[in-house]
Amino acid sequence: MTIQTAFTKIISSLEPIHGQREAANIAHLLMEHVTGMSRMDRIVYKDKGLEPAQEMQLEEGLQALLAHQPIQYVTGSSWFYGMELNVNGHVLIPRPETEELVEWIVDDVRTGRQAGHKLLDIGTGSGAIPVALKKELSAAEVWAVDVSEGALETAKANAVKQGFDVHFELMNILDTKATASLPSFDIIVSNPPYICEQEQAGMQEHVVAYEPSIALFVPDNDALLFYREIGLLGKQKLHTGGALYFEINEAFGEETMQLLREQGYKDVVLKKDIFGKDRMIKAVI
Ligand code: SAM
Ligand code: GLN
Repeated sequence: MTIQTAFTKIISSLEPIHGQREAANIAHLLMEHVTGMSRMDRIVYKDKGLEPAQEMQLEEGLQALLAHQPIQYVTGSSWFYGMELNVNGHVLIPRPETEELVEWIVDDVRTGRQAGHKLLDIGTGSGAIPVALKKELSAAEVWAVDVSEGALETAKANAVKQGFDVHFELMNILDTKATASLPSFDIIVSNPPYICEQEQAGMQEHVVAYEPSIALFVPDNDALLFYREIGLLGKQKLHTGGALYFEINEAFGEETMQLLREQGYKDVVLKKDIFGKDRMIKAVI
């Protein structure tokens, strides 16, 4: 099989599922992964034959894609804030909405609206948030915690890969004995699990099938659980004038704001994402 025929085969297999444009995007990613060649080289060497091992890898990748596995898990990588990060079944594939959350923090710190010497990310997953924060705010001390060992290992590998120093800790954020050991911070950020069981029916099949449940679903269908607990933690660990930044479930914007106000936060602000959905909250203590 040549590079050209392999590319065409992927597109024709995936087109019925994804449509032509998306099928072509995925085909480019899979071809780059299998051949290790850039798009330009794959045009120049389009008549070059694939090695048997490459053909096998391509076939396996294609089968996985046909079973609706996200391309990021097939190639083991995903882009976030201009960086290529490792991803696997232990971590959520970082979303563009979360880039907007990082952007909000970076902007507030750079303009001096918020102090940003010491920051904590809760439920770090792939480490997308702390690694991006460290990239943009190099002088900051950045901490990140997750309850999943597999996620934490991936996050550590991503920080090393990008050459950034992040302090990682394995921690269940709902365990108040464990969180008592945390130092104080200027900013706490979190994109916690926020989906309830009854919302599962409306979700894309591949998200439910392949992304880690522990990253998506909130325990006991208590949509505000992490916001409540992290809100309380912030009251103990944030410096005066410090801020929480949350990614939220679009259906709970008002409730989450209300909860944080009741906990004593002021300047509670809601922001929509690029898709026009209520997606982020900032609250100052
Ligand atoms: N921060 C990453 C991002 O934005 O792409 C991942 C966010 S994912 C929605 C939520 C993360 O919270 C998962 O990595 C999951 O392992 C972690 N998590 C779930 N329950 C937790 C808990 N009790 N304590 C700490 N982390 C938890
Ligand atoms: N935004 C993700 C999704 O819709 C969920 C992330 C989360 O639960 N924090 O799949």
